[in-house]
Amino acid sequence: MGTILFFQESEWYLINLIKKLWYYGLNFLRKYMWAEDLMDKFMRIYRYQKFDYSFSTTESLLYAMGGDDFTSMLNMTIDEVMQKSGFTKKFIDDMVVPAMRFNYGQGVDVNGFVGAISYAWTDSGLWAVAGGNKLVCSGLLHAAKAQLIQGTVTSVQEKVHSTKPGNTVKLYEISYVTDKGPGLDLYDIVVIATPLNKNLGNIEFVGFDPPIEALYGPYQQMVVTFVHGRINTSYFGCSKPCHFPLSDVLTTYNPKLFIHSISAVSPANPVPESDTSKASGLRVWKIFSPEVLTDEQLHQLFESYDAVKVRNWLAYPRYSPPEKIPPIELHRSIYYVDGIEWAASAIEMCVIAAKNVALLSHHQWYGKNDHIDQQDLAERLKSEL
Ligand SMILES: Cc1cc2nc3c(=O)[nH]c(=O)nc-3n(C[C@H](O)[C@H](O)[C@H](O)COP(=O)(O)OP(=O)(O)OC[C@H]3O[C@@H](n4cnc5c(N)ncnc54)[C@H](O)[C@@H]3O)c2cc1C
Repeated sequence: MGTILFFQESEWYLINLIKKLWYYGLNFLRKYMWAEDLMDKFMRIYRYQKFDYSFSTTESLLYAMGGDDFTSMLNMTIDEVMQKSGFTKKFIDDMVVPAMRFNYGQGVDVNGFVGAISYAWTDSGLWAVAGGNKLVCSGLLHAAKAQLIQGTVTSVQEKVHSTKPGNTVKLYEISYVTDKGPGLDLYDIVVIATPLNKNLGNIEFVGFDPPIEALYGPYQQMVVTFVHGRINTSYFGCSKPCHFPLSDVLTTYNPKLFIHSISAVSPANPVPESDTSKASGLRVWKIFSPEVLTDEQLHQLFESYDAVKVRNWLAYPRYSPPEKIPPIELHRSIYYVDGIEWAASAIEMCVIAAKNVALLSHHQWYGKNDHIDQQDLAERLKSEL
């Protein structure tokens, strides 16, 4: 790719089916069965959590979901996993590489687990929250009746406090900064729910042995550029007049390419396109790229544009199997949610990890060890309603 679109989806189901069979034989059927098996195992976690079971490591959580099939994928690339499952190299290069570039800005050398779950979910349809994802957070805070201190945590330190004469208790002192200035509070349990890296989180763990900072791994930069403009279809191999509506273009590996993907953005509640907007061809486009796009590159992608917004992220772990997954328990009663992103970075994974930490911390606090790291849950819960 770079100048040609080598596989274009049609709006017609039958035409798509014939094209897929023609180019890729039975690979898509294989993918369907492979993804079904993966999802069946993945969905087990919701049943375990419904019955309040928790796990003290990400590896034991994955093992409870899918046994060795899941944990072994952390030590292989998605390329190796899919080749072992019988997919052809052409299918992997044409279909899986673009999905990995789109999802993680990386290639098929990412670990097999993140590759598999992100690729298996490519057909399942995406949901959007009208008003923005931030409403999920404010809704949850409201429902939990949580007391929120709106600020930035700067450090965590263990402190020994005397209660009665002769009695001591270990607590964590959290230092933070709010609009009103610095503050500190003492807590029994601390949950870190942001990725930790030297450029992310920026929380100092004071006086811990071994040092918690040693767990940090590198994150992958991803630049997101939103452009309101008219796309240059001929750059994408569709000469003018271009007779099909370009809405998502994914890319295969090509060192000369400066974008990972470009997609038209639609509002959560679609508004009917007016005749004027149809005629003008103006839309909002979202581009993923490894570096900030230059004016020259934007002019290659667009015939014209009138607004550009750029956001640079340290977005996801830079995967490199065999993967070393950070612990969930960073120290006694300090829990880390986002370590699961080293198995697979996705909102759903972090939600599962957050619920796991809530259950685990509760069970450890109350000594309910029969709900931690239990074996054969899939079998044991079969008979439960
Ligand atoms: C560009 C991009 C696209 C993505 N696309 C998808 C997608 O399509 N689907 C998907 O499932 N996932 C996607 N992800 C991944 C997804 O966003 C993450 O997995 C998810 O946001 C992790 O949720 P979290 O709440 O654990 O952490 P975050 O969403 O990172 O939230 C952490 C919060 O902690 C705050 N914080 C950080 N440091 C401190 C501090 N010291 N004190 C106080 N607060 C602090 C941050 O400001 C932030 O609000 C994408 C990520 C990026 C960057």
